[in-house]
Amino acid sequence: MSADYHVQDGVAVITLNNPPVNGLGLATRTAAVDGLRRAAADPAVRAIVVTGAGKAFSGGADIREFNSPKALTEPTLHTLIRTVEDSPKPVVAAIHTVCMGGGLELALGAHYRVALPGAQVALPEVKLGLLPGAGGTQRLPRVLGLEKALDMIVSGTPAKSESLAGTLLFDALLPAGSELVAGAVDFANEIAERRPLPKVRDLAVEHADAHAFLAAARAKVKAAAGPFPAPPACVEAVAAAVDKPFEEGLLFERDLFLQLTTTTESKALRHAFFAERAASKVADVPADTPVRPVARAAVVGAGTMGSGIAMNFANAGIPVTILETSQDALDKGLGAIRRNYEATVKKGKLAPEQLEGRLAFVQGTLDIADIAQADIVVEAVFEDLAVKEDVFRRLDAAMKPGAILASNTSTLDLDRIAGFTARPQDVIGLHFFSPANVMKLLEIVRGAATGKDVLATALALAKTLRKTGVVSGVCDGFIGNRMIEQYLRQAGFLLDEGALPAQVDRAMERFGFAMGPFRMADLAGNDIGWAIRKRKRAQDPGLQYSQTADLLCERGRFGQKTGAGWYDYAAGDRAPHPSVAVEEMIVRHSADLGIARRAIDDAEIVERLVYALVNEGAKILEDGIAQRASDIDMVYLAGYGFPLFRGGPMFYADTVGLPAVLAAIERFAGGYRGDAWVPAPLLVRLAGEGRGFGG
Ligand code: NAD
Repeated sequence: MSADYHVQDGVAVITLNNPPVNGLGLATRTAAVDGLRRAAADPAVRAIVVTGAGKAFSGGADIREFNSPKALTEPTLHTLIRTVEDSPKPVVAAIHTVCMGGGLELALGAHYRVALPGAQVALPEVKLGLLPGAGGTQRLPRVLGLEKALDMIVSGTPAKSESLAGTLLFDALLPAGSELVAGAVDFANEIAERRPLPKVRDLAVEHADAHAFLAAARAKVKAAAGPFPAPPACVEAVAAAVDKPFEEGLLFERDLFLQLTTTTESKALRHAFFAERAASKVADVPADTPVRPVARAAVVGAGTMGSGIAMNFANAGIPVTILETSQDALDKGLGAIRRNYEATVKKGKLAPEQLEGRLAFVQGTLDIADIAQADIVVEAVFEDLAVKEDVFRRLDAAMKPGAILASNTSTLDLDRIAGFTARPQDVIGLHFFSPANVMKLLEIVRGAATGKDVLATALALAKTLRKTGVVSGVCDGFIGNRMIEQYLRQAGFLLDEGALPAQVDRAMERFGFAMGPFRMADLAGNDIGWAIRKRKRAQDPGLQYSQTADLLCERGRFGQKTGAGWYDYAAGDRAPHPSVAVEEMIVRHSADLGIARRAIDDAEIVERLVYALVNEGAKILEDGIAQRASDIDMVYLAGYGFPLFRGGPMFYADTVGLPAVLAAIERFAGGYRGDAWVPAPLLVRLAGEGRGFGG
């Protein structure tokens, strides 16, 4: 049963019932249409109330039916709304809690709408690269007026029902706390005999100068939308509500909707939406796996990462204690946290009166006994196995039984770290990204012995901390940094061959990356990569890198923090200025290698760097380090500034076509440093089978 039916005081009450948010799936639509027909045929029924069970009126389309033929099976949402609107007896939508997307479109088909205060009202389709395709763009402007409706449709932002009181959207707003169905039934009885039945479609769109407004809106929305086609399409659909008769407007909306479903940019948004949901699921960790309570947290190390990580806990209202080795280091870390919050207040993102409250969640200590009772401790000390060993041995001795021992290591072997304790089941990697209080990505590193409840707790904690948690197996660099290494290697080889940093960055930024590789390296600090390369070369002397990055570091050009890196920086300014000295260094290095520098076009730069990610991603998938291709996409979207409209590296490779990706890789394998290109067996196989990473 996905809609309930009963008659109360001569009014048929149809209650959508499809948890969690009464998504309008096929079974729910069928039951609702059946209810409407039954009510029409029953002489004892004078009017009809449609409402939703539980925590929503309706959240709209059932996302489980996305991309499934069920969405197009009769009765479609259009048919349901038409049945409501054409009902010979008045239909009252009784709205509470959540009324979004198709749910709002359904309510707009009703003759009357009554609501409780506090209901979230929205048409959020634009966030999935779509527009409301069941009349929303035609009906909402008729009840809210052109400007308000356009704003809601283009932004997808929810409005509270009480903020829309007095508009034609609601015929009545019931007092808070009142019984919605009883109120709606009373309302239905009051209007039961009124004819003709009011229909939103019969209203005109109100605006003093609609065409001037729409012209301005077109320009503004187009500029803000960048590569995304949905927001401008929303404007056109709303314009049709002004310019076309209702039925024509509906057809126009439908056409635009169908066009949007086929664009790559819109598919990429839906891919990212589903990828984020999928990432929180682990095949052998069922949803009902018990989680450990996390009410108190600790962080070891108050450096760059430790202070940012502590802020995450404070922001979530979880008290956190930071352990350091010296008062000096502790004061520095706590000072950085205070300054960070003060800056947040200055930006207007934190109320001044909340500042001290937020800081009160963060304590510092030099005594490990003070953190022993924490439910979770996140280690963020120097990236040195000996230092980590000492810390984990001491944590093992001090922490209460059942505490989760997490490491923020970027490159070290989590299983070895777990081996320093007598409780490897309690050890997990929580790899935050810098700045840790800002970046959305949290790589959750599952060690060989990590307990399923510990993994489930980490996934739940990611949500509490408002992070995108993605599970990675143990390998050097985990998902994100293992792939970025190949990307950066290619960036370096391009310099040897003829490119300059600004050209490479420009090509990648035009492709859509938030930042090209050399600007990114200057931000992160070139010394970090230098140290990693030294360690790797000690393990594998044959490993090939462009030496340009080492030459840069030998000159002390560590990046923004030293005022010079791949670029020059003016004091107090993050704007990169191409450096003549660095360009000379690069050109001389090519000469030393005996390379005649060549012109390299932007398309090759993009292919070399992005396919390096794709090829390594395929290996990561095949090794089982990532559970699914979409997890890799999530890592790159949430942590590395990969362009959202391209959906992540693996999704992007599918849109290019794997045979074309493979052909390019084989071509590169015949070029400079071609031995860096060993096509991933999975890529070769999928390309041969005419398949993609997404199936
Ligand atoms: P950092 O040098 O800024 O901070 C390390 C802090 O740990 C210092 O304040 C130091 O005093 C403290 N410390 C050292 N030994 C300690 C001990 N025994 N007990 C308590 N405190 C101790 O380093 P960071 O950049 O914050 O990196 C910390 C960890 O996070 C490393 O494992 C690093 O690989 C990882 N990481 C760094 C980044 C980044 O971008 N910086 C990103 C992700 C992960």
